[in-house]
Amino acid sequence: MDLSKEYRALVERLEAEGVRLVEKDRVWHQRLIHWLLQVVTLGAQSQYLDRYVTTIGRTIYLTPGWNDRALADRYATMRHEAVHIEQFKRFGLLPMALAYLLLPLPIGLAWCRMRLEREAYEETLRVQFAHGGRPAVEKIREHVIRQFTSGAYGWMWPFPRAVARWFDRFVDGL
Ligand SMILES: [Zn+2]
Repeated sequence: MDLSKEYRALVERLEAEGVRLVEKDRVWHQRLIHWLLQVVTLGAQSQYLDRYVTTIGRTIYLTPGWNDRALADRYATMRHEAVHIEQFKRFGLLPMALAYLLLPLPIGLAWCRMRLEREAYEETLRVQFAHGGRPAVEKIREHVIRQFTSGAYGWMWPFPRAVARWFDRFVDGL
């Protein structure tokens, strides 16, 4: 199956499950979150609206100009978000939201967020590996590690060596 067919099939499957795809910058509370994140992270996360696709409950909030993004990028992102959709189903909206945002700390030591994102990034890595093998995965290694250790996700797990260990072990197993 070619990638555009795979992408369409994935989106259709999600929509059939009741998942909504919405443009992020058109939703007032997403603009509010964008502003709050800039304040809380002192500017370290200032690309929430433009660069980060976000899943809350059964809604996936897409970045502006989503369809202009490269197909491979859209496909990998959608697979990552599909994991979050699954997590919201598994845990329920409120427990998932509370765990993701607050436990044990909202910033700097967000163990639950780290575990939830780790599961989703593992899907990202599976997709990259399937399409481009080890080189494709190595190419995004630093970027992925930075997502965990920087302000991008509120310094959710600021331990680069631990994150790198998870990354390398997971990729070795692919
Ligand atoms: Zn994620």
